[in-house]
Amino acid sequence: MLASNLHCRMLPSAAALALTLLGPHALLAQEATEQLRVDGGRLYRGLLELGEIGREAGGGAMRMSFTPADMAARALVSRWLQAADLQISVDAAGNLIGRKLGANADLPPIVLGSHIDSVPQGGRFDGPLGSLAAIEVAQTLADRGLQLEHPLEVIIFSNEENGKTGSKALAGEVSAADLEREVVAGLSIAAGIELVGGEPEAIASLKREAGSIAAFLELHIEQGALLEAAGVPIGVVQGIVGIKRWRIEFTGFANHAGTTPMSQRQDALVAAAQFITAVHRIAKSMPGRQVATVGKIEAQPGAANVIPGRTELSLEIRDLEMAKIEAVYASVKAAGLLIAEESGTEFSAEEYYKSEAAPTDQEIQALISKAADDLGLRQQAMPSGAGHDAQSIAQFAPIGMIFVPSRAGISHSPEEYSSREQVTAGANVLLQTVLALDRR
Ligand SMILES: [Zn+2]
Repeated sequence: MLASNLHCRMLPSAAALALTLLGPHALLAQEATEQLRVDGGRLYRGLLELGEIGREAGGGAMRMSFTPADMAARALVSRWLQAADLQISVDAAGNLIGRKLGANADLPPIVLGSHIDSVPQGGRFDGPLGSLAAIEVAQTLADRGLQLEHPLEVIIFSNEENGKTGSKALAGEVSAADLEREVVAGLSIAAGIELVGGEPEAIASLKREAGSIAAFLELHIEQGALLEAAGVPIGVVQGIVGIKRWRIEFTGFANHAGTTPMSQRQDALVAAAQFITAVHRIAKSMPGRQVATVGKIEAQPGAANVIPGRTELSLEIRDLEMAKIEAVYASVKAAGLLIAEESGTEFSAEEYYKSEAAPTDQEIQALISKAADDLGLRQQAMPSGAGHDAQSIAQFAPIGMIFVPSRAGISHSPEEYSSREQVTAGANVLLQTVLALDRR
C-alpha cells in the first residue's frame, strides 16, 4: 500500500521538516535529499550479525548457497527487507527480492543488490556488504517516509559463489547443465533452488529484456589492495574484466638426458620456460592494466633423466576490453612461434574459455564519482578483476559498481575486513547515486 509508506517522522533539521510537510514528492527537493545519510552503525551491526551465521571454529563463514546456514541468513535478511518497507518475494532462480513502488508507475525500477552466500571459510563482507547496503538505502528512505519516482528493487542473488546462478538467470544465461551442478556434496543447484522456494524448471522465464531496469548498482569490497595502498576510500568501477584462457603446448623430442648433446636437443620445457617469461614481459610492457598469467605447467614424460618432449601450459589474459585481450594474445602467440622455431619445437594454442568483459555505464560512473565528490570522498577509477553479479545484469541494463577498500586486499577468507567508516562511506555513495539516478 502506497499510503502506508508515507509514515513521516519529525526530524530535527529544517530541510527534513520541509520534506515531512511536503509529502513524498518532496523527494524531488534535491537540496534536502543531498543531506541524507545512511545509518552506518546499523549497517555495520547488520554485517557482524549476518557474519555470525554459519561461522565455524576457524573463524570463517560456511554459508554456501542453499545450505542450512544460507537459509538462516536469508530468513534474517528477509526480516530486514520487510523492515525497510520492501515487499518480498522469491523468484524462480531463488533470488530473494524486495520491492517498493515508485511514485511514477511508468518508470522501470532502479535495482540494487549483491549476494549473501559465501565460499567455504568465507568472510563477512564479500556479498553481504552490497546486500545490506542496498537494504540500508531502502531503510534510510523509509525512515524519512520518502518514495522514489522509480520503483526500488533490492535483489539478494542466489548462489553467486558457485556459478552466479541468480544473476545469470536474469540474463537468460543458466543452462540445464548448470542447474545439475552441485553446490555442496549431494545438493544440486536445482534442488537448492527448490529448497528456498524457487522453480528451477521455470528459470528461463526470468530473462529480462533491455530497458526493463533503469539502472543496477552494486557496492562491493575491492578484493584487491589498490584503494588501501592509495589511501582512497571509493573505487569507481570502470567495468568487470573479460577473461580468455588457452591450453598451450610445446612439442619437442623426448630423449636420453645423458647421451643427447646440448646442441641436438628439442627440449619442450626449455621452450615453455622462455614462453612463460615472454608472457610476463609482454603483458607488463604494453600500456594499460591488462594481466596475463601462466598458472599451470606439466612436463612429459616428467623424469629426471629424460629431456622433456612435451609441455602443456595454461594461459589466461584479462582486460576491460576484449580487443586488448586479443592484442596481448597476438603478441604472446608470435613470441610462442618464435620460441618454437629457435628451440626446434612446435607451438600450439587452443582457446577453451571466454568470459565477456562487462563495462559499467559511463553516465552512472559519472554519477558515482559526483556523489563521492559531494561527500568529500576521494576516489579512483579502476577495473574489477573479479567477477560479480553485476556482470550478467550488464547484458541487458546499465550497471554501476562502487568499491570500498579491503584490508590487505584479502577476500574469500575469514581475514576479510573493511572498517565501519569505509563501509559507511560506500553506502552513502550508493544512496546518493540512487537519488541522482532517480532525479535524471
Ligand atoms: Zn561477491
